[in-house]
Amino acid sequence: MINTLKDADKFLCLLAQEVNFKLLESLNEISVLFLGNDDCRLQAAYNFKRRQCNAEVLLDYLPKSLSRSHKKKELFLTDIDIYRPQAEFIFGLSERRGARTAVVSTHRLKGQNAGLFLSRLLKEALHELGHLFNLGHCQDKFCVMSLSLDIKDVDYKKTRFCRNCRKLLER
Ligand SMILES: [Zn+2]
Ligand SMILES: [Zn+2]
Repeated sequence: MINTLKDADKFLCLLAQEVNFKLLESLNEISVLFLGNDDCRLQAAYNFKRRQCNAEVLLDYLPKSLSRSHKKKELFLTDIDIYRPQAEFIFGLSERRGARTAVVSTHRLKGQNAGLFLSRLLKEALHELGHLFNLGHCQDKFCVMSLSLDIKDVDYKKTRFCRNCRKLLER
């Protein structure tokens, strides 16, 4: 599914079109990277019983395997279903607030058409980027920083940050 996005630059442009705020004014602060299904780091974190990838383990591998000196935030995208030990599945995960690395899975975001898929992916990507830029979860159900436990939650929220979260981002 992520092949339909062609390349990371295109996805970054889409992110920028959707949301115009400080974080994305400087797109060079963010890298979007695609993890191929045969990526050894994905395989190392793969749970064959669950047929899912443990996102916590995966995040441990991702930054260490990159010997980069730059301070860019890195958003990894994968088609493989991801989970945390305490959850059946998750849409995405960031290391912690203000960290450098996050991952989003497209696996459960697929919809009847490409437009729906893309809008879901943008929401979850923005959500994880929000965490990387120090935001926590938001109680505003329309805000992209509200926690999504299922696909209905994803569809309910908007592809934007609420006024409060935007203020925090701009600090
Ligand atoms: Zn979150
Ligand atoms: Zn908010």
